[in-house]
Amino acid sequence: MARLDELLGPFDTLQYCPHGPDGGCDCRKPAPGMVKAACAELDVDPSRCVVVGDIGADVDAAAAAGAAGIMVPTPVTRKPEVDAAPHVAPTLTAAVDDVLGGTW
Ligand SMILES: [Zn+2]
Repeated sequence: MARLDELLGPFDTLQYCPHGPDGGCDCRKPAPGMVKAACAELDVDPSRCVVVGDIGADVDAAAAAGAAGIMVPTPVTRKPEVDAAPHVAPTLTAAVDDVLGGTW
């Protein structure tokens, strides 16, 4: 986590799921646990949060937590997941612009 924060941060919160897909935990996306934990750490209501991700599980986790989701597809994002996303932006910068501009 320190290395991640050093390379890409600083972050106000970092969440990760250490469990496998069969772990049955509440933190592995599309479960809402990581979104809820981040909101709790930041003391913000999920309804006031936006989760930006590149796979369907990201936006599904957002919805399960009560947050909004924006998909920014990458070359590995599957088309059906893009088609099912509530909002799609071409880049992270565009996603931020959409949020700040209220166009999402
Ligand atoms: Zn987990």
